[in-house]
Amino acid sequence: MSETSEFDRLLTQLPLWLETSRKRAAEGKVASYIPELSKMPQSALGIAVLDANGRTASAGDCGIPFTMQSISKVFTLILALMDNGEAAVFDKVGMEPTGDNFNSMLKLELVRPGIPFNPLINAGAIAVSSLIAGADSEEKSSRILSFFRKLAGNPSLELDEDVYRSEAATANLNRSMAYLLKDNGVLEGGVDEVLDVYFRHCSIKVACADIARMALVLAFDGADPLTGESLIPRRYVQIAKTFMITCGMYNASGEFAIQVGLPAKSGVSGGILTLVPGRYGIGVVGPALNRKGNSIAGVHLMETLSREFDWSMF
Ligand code: GLN
Repeated sequence: MSETSEFDRLLTQLPLWLETSRKRAAEGKVASYIPELSKMPQSALGIAVLDANGRTASAGDCGIPFTMQSISKVFTLILALMDNGEAAVFDKVGMEPTGDNFNSMLKLELVRPGIPFNPLINAGAIAVSSLIAGADSEEKSSRILSFFRKLAGNPSLELDEDVYRSEAATANLNRSMAYLLKDNGVLEGGVDEVLDVYFRHCSIKVACADIARMALVLAFDGADPLTGESLIPRRYVQIAKTFMITCGMYNASGEFAIQVGLPAKSGVSGGILTLVPGRYGIGVVGPALNRKGNSIAGVHLMETLSREFDWSMF
C-alpha cells in the first residue's frame, strides 16, 4: 500500500478502530498504588500517529494529559548512555529480560553480581537515574526535563507535581529496592537523591502528540525528521529500541512482539510509546491496565493497527 493511501486509511479508520478497542477498557483496572494515578478516567483511550512530514492522525482522548511513568526510562537510559558511554552504563545494569513484574526485586538477591537485569524494570531505571550527569538531583532532573522537551519539540513540558508527590509518599517498594542496590554497590550518590530524580522523570506530564514526536526521533534513528536535527547517536537508539522489543512491555514483551511486532514502552499511567521504523512515531493513552500493567485498550488498538497495515517488523 502506498504511503498516502495508508495514511488516508488511517485518518478515516482510526476513530472506528479506537471505539472498538475502547470497549476493552471495562476489563482493565486503573493503577492505584500511586494514589494520584487512580484519578485517571477508566474508559479513556487516545492515539496520535505522526509521520515524517509532520502530519498527524489522531483519535479519541488524545488530548488528555498523563505522566510518562516507565516510558521515561527509555530516554533516561539514552541520556545516561550519552553522559557515560556503553561500558559504564552496562557495568551497573544488565541487558536481559526478567520474566518478572516491573517492580520485582526478586533477582537482585538471587543472582550475582546484584545488578538489575535491564534498564526498563524499576530497579534498572533507578540505577540509570544515578548515572545521569549533574551536581545534585536538581541539576540531573533539569537536564532530563530539557532533554525530553527537545525530543518532544515541546518547550512547555512540566512535571505533574501532584503525581510526583503522590509517588514519593508511597514508594516503599522502590525505596527498599534502591537501598538494596546501594548495598550492592550499584548506586552512585545518596539513595534519596537518586529516587528523587527517578520520581521526577516518571512524573513528566505529556499528551499523545508529545510521545509520538519522541517516538518519531527513535523511528528515524535519532535525527528529528521535522527539524533535521540529530538528537541521539544512532547506536544509542539501536540499544533503546532493542530493549523496547525485549523488555518494553515487561513480562508481556514476548506477546506484544508476536501480536504487534514493534518497539514499544508502556507506563503505569496507561501510556504506550511505539513506532514504525522509518515511518511513524505513535503515542497512545488508555489508563485501564491489564494484569501485566500495560494499557488493555491501548494494546488492543495497536494489535489492530499492526494487523491492518502489516506493520510487524518480523
Ligand atoms: N513510577 C512508576 C513506579 O516506579 C513507574 C512504573 C511503571 O510505569 N510501570 O512504580
